[in-house]
Amino acid sequence: MSDKNFRLQDLRARLSANHYKMTPQRKEILQIFLENNADPHLSAEEVYEVLKKKDFDFGLATIYRNVELLSTLGILSKINFDDGRTRYELASADPKVHQHHHLICLKCKKIFEFEEDLLENLETTITTKSGFEIVNHEVKFFGYCADCKGKDNADKKS
Ligand SMILES: [Zn+2]
Ligand SMILES: [Zn+2]
Ligand SMILES: [Zn+2]
Repeated sequence: MSDKNFRLQDLRARLSANHYKMTPQRKEILQIFLENNADPHLSAEEVYEVLKKKDFDFGLATIYRNVELLSTLGILSKINFDDGRTRYELASADPKVHQHHHLICLKCKKIFEFEEDLLENLETTITTKSGFEIVNHEVKFFGYCADCKGKDNADKKS
């Protein structure tokens, strides 16, 4: 798992390649995403809240600017789960590893990650037929998670 994550030195390298400096804000934001395995999809507001709890006094505008910058640098991916918030998550440090898929439960609204790509054949077909070179994709599946699916069945029986 950890070798597909960005490390602090990767962030430093990308920042300097793009003429940006490492700042405490940028370092701590990356750290939040590296530590936060329970909910890896965070909005700028949530990053702000987590940092505040850790006693960092960074302004919300600073957080907005820096998560955007990290997404421009390809360290964070921007995702939208249609709940009116832009969220960010760690991108894959290995460009050959595509972004995982997201399974969105329509009932409990939980978001599950699905790590296997499984789209290789589709990608090859698209490239062969259209000449389009695929570098990544963003796939969302909508439905009912294992827990909610069970509850649905129970409701129907009673
Ligand atoms: Zn893929
Ligand atoms: Zn659910
Ligand atoms: Zn994700």
